[in-house]
Amino acid sequence: MSTIVIQTQGLSKHYGDFVALRDLNLTVYAGEIFGYLGPNGAGKTTTIRTLLDIIRPSAGSATIFSKDIRQDSVKIHAQLGYLPSEMTFYENMTARQYVRFLERARRTSCMAEAERLAQRLDFDLNRSLEGLSTGNKRKIGIITTLMHRPPLLILDEPTSGLDPLMQQVFNELVREVQNEGRTIFLSSHNLNEVQALCDRVGILRQGELTDVESVDKLTRLSFRWVHLEFAEAVDARAFEQLSGVSHLQADTTKVKLQVTGDMDALIKLAAQHTICDIRVEDPTLEEIFLKYYGRDNA
Ligand code: ATP
Repeated sequence: MSTIVIQTQGLSKHYGDFVALRDLNLTVYAGEIFGYLGPNGAGKTTTIRTLLDIIRPSAGSATIFSKDIRQDSVKIHAQLGYLPSEMTFYENMTARQYVRFLERARRTSCMAEAERLAQRLDFDLNRSLEGLSTGNKRKIGIITTLMHRPPLLILDEPTSGLDPLMQQVFNELVREVQNEGRTIFLSSHNLNEVQALCDRVGILRQGELTDVESVDKLTRLSFRWVHLEFAEAVDARAFEQLSGVSHLQADTTKVKLQVTGDMDALIKLAAQHTICDIRVEDPTLEEIFLKYYGRDNA
């Protein structure tokens, strides 16, 4: 049985009549990369800020490393790295001075690790924090979140503002953290990022956790795209009538469709014709996401 790192029970946050987070029951295990996915305004930041005791829950409770988020927030903070979605700095410092400042505050020495991370992210620690671009702010944020090698990382939209090359470096850094048995909780509305990086994903919609599933299973079990090419023209309507088949597009000898569940009937029907080619594609997480959320949030 895996060790539980984050556990919430009925965690809720109201602003007056508005419910930003409703009855959240969530478990994150040691050593996993957990993706917290939802559209803008879904309640991702609210969840994170509540877990970090920056804001207080209206109801419910939560633990991190089996410690209560409210009673033991100081002890919890000593064990985590938090990257907020927006970074603000004292701008009259260089990045190196900022690292020194955090070292003193945390009473740990982490300059060597900061140098290593800066090199990986192609960032010069001698730069002033004044007037940094969004991407460079994000880089110094990642460096200072990881440099003390905390057992838990809580990252709010970690790659916003990073170019694709740096996103790749970020993914490598996060995987290295995981390989050391540490735990990562990251919020995102970037589906590709979650698909590429996370083991499990929780989908949040309008303050409610609608599903928690392994990324593998979501990708495999939901539906697949099937592309068929025949030697002769076929009547595509026969395919449309099969159970589990939808989104059919046909062009005399070519048929493209979505199939949910097993493919036995589809393969048997296709085999009544001469098949030139058959291709089966897993959906992207984005397609799964749109299916979950329906057209209203597309
Ligand atoms: P994004 O991806 O855009 O950052 P999010 O999923 O992080 O979105 P939250 O920032 O958690 O969403 O916001 C959830 C909802 O709570 C939003 O509708 C937001 O407007 C509302 N909200 C957040 N803070 C407050 C506040 N202090 N007062 C009133 N409403 C708030």
